[in-house]
Amino acid sequence: MHHRQCVPLLSRPTPGVLPSERGKQFCRRCEYCQPCLNGVMITPAMGYKIVASRMSPVVAAEFLREAMESVKLCEDCNTCIERCPYELPIPEMPRANYDIYERHVAELGKS
Ligand code: SF4
Ligand code: SF4
Repeated sequence: MHHRQCVPLLSRPTPGVLPSERGKQFCRRCEYCQPCLNGVMITPAMGYKIVASRMSPVVAAEFLREAMESVKLCEDCNTCIERCPYELPIPEMPRANYDIYERHVAELGKS
């Protein structure tokens, strides 16, 4: 049986994070959380809601389909959370966006 190995965190510079910025649920797209060993496209999946509000939901669902489908690959290893300088609850945020995406896909099916 194949076991995924634990990969040490990438060494990285610590970006300047103001204490006031910590804890806010806003992805800065810095990509320190990546790569995900399971192939979750974290950064674009984090931004789905914003893209959908700027474009139409239908366009967003098509444009980010690959990223949103990758959300299902998450196995809650929490590596990304440890890497994120903003301590975002990463698995939950893309999953919440996935629910929105699913509704948009359903709307696509109706049109
Ligand atoms: S918690 Fe999920 S998204 Fe984050 S690194 Fe692990 S598998 Fe990937
Ligand atoms: S989830 Fe965190 S580490 Fe990943 S891109 Fe967003 S702010 Fe950066």
